[in-house]
Amino acid sequence: MKKVSILIPAYNEEKVIHLLYARLKSLIDSLPQYEFELMFVNDGSTDNTLSFLYGLRKDDRRVNIIDLSRNYGKEIAMLAGFDYVSGDCTIIIDADLQDPPELIPQMLQYWEEGYDDVYAKRRSREGESYFKKKTSEWFYKILQRTTKIKIQLDTGDFRLLDASCVEALRQIRESSRYTKGMFSWIGYRKKEIIFDRNPRAAGETKWSFFKLLSLAIEGITSFTTAPLRISTIIGMLVSLASFAYMIYILINTIFNGNSVAGYTSTITIVLFLGGVQLLSLGVLGEYISRIFVETKRRPPYLVRSFNEERIITTKKTNADR
Ligand code: UDP
Ligand code: MG
Repeated sequence: MKKVSILIPAYNEEKVIHLLYARLKSLIDSLPQYEFELMFVNDGSTDNTLSFLYGLRKDDRRVNIIDLSRNYGKEIAMLAGFDYVSGDCTIIIDADLQDPPELIPQMLQYWEEGYDDVYAKRRSREGESYFKKKTSEWFYKILQRTTKIKIQLDTGDFRLLDASCVEALRQIRESSRYTKGMFSWIGYRKKEIIFDRNPRAAGETKWSFFKLLSLAIEGITSFTTAPLRISTIIGMLVSLASFAYMIYILINTIFNGNSVAGYTSTITIVLFLGGVQLLSLGVLGEYISRIFVETKRRPPYLVRSFNEERIITTKKTNADR
């Protein structure tokens, strides 16, 4: 019998955990041809999420709980899940029921047909502000223009991954992760399903504007070095323009003599150049900070316990084993 793992990162989701479990349970009970494993990753919740999960595990041993030592963010929580799942395929789903579990049978069907990565693409983004929709649209446009890898638009993390894809993702040990980019990067045979994303069942989104902005910067800097190229090009253009202007000033001074006028142009140029320099420095800094973080080679996450069993060391990655 094939085993299907369902991976659910959860951070302060006490309001929806029971709802989610009820929906998932009725779904997996209706698919007796598979063996299921529910892999909850408690990402340092400060509410009752963890004790609710233990409550579920008491009655249903298919529920597994990875308890991280603190809040690491969804991207790292997913990595922890990848390290622990053992299914022939893994389905990632949000805890807040924005991803309808009812899509899972169709995903499994495509998987049986031979697809490795069946992802759910949103038709609508109900319950999200116009601002969030627009900024996310821009972000993907920029990302797509600057990279040769095809990026799936309007796609979240809700997807089915074959064990081979999960293994591939486990091998990527970057600690500042942009998993959506990784799904594209690993390749494999992809298939999309269109669906309508629901608003959150309850509770609040964990994403503030600044968190999203830094995720966007993370996405771009972890995926492409195009910003470095762009700042080089801007630097070249600005140098060329400055050179031309210098020639003009020189000739002008030779023929018309030195005049003190020109305060406006001077201050404009100084400010403009200062701005360009700071921007390029910032871009450089983004990449250097990534180098800094990665060279520390810290484990990306620490697990406090797995199914109530205390974990002393980080689980070795498959790459290390
Ligand atoms: N999540 C997490 N750690 C975090 C933030 C979120 O594990 O630090 C989980 C959260 O519990 C949910 C999923 O990631 O299952 C998506 O989070 P959210 O609904 O807040 O994001 P949105 O749907 O608004 O993008
Ligand atoms: Mg959500």
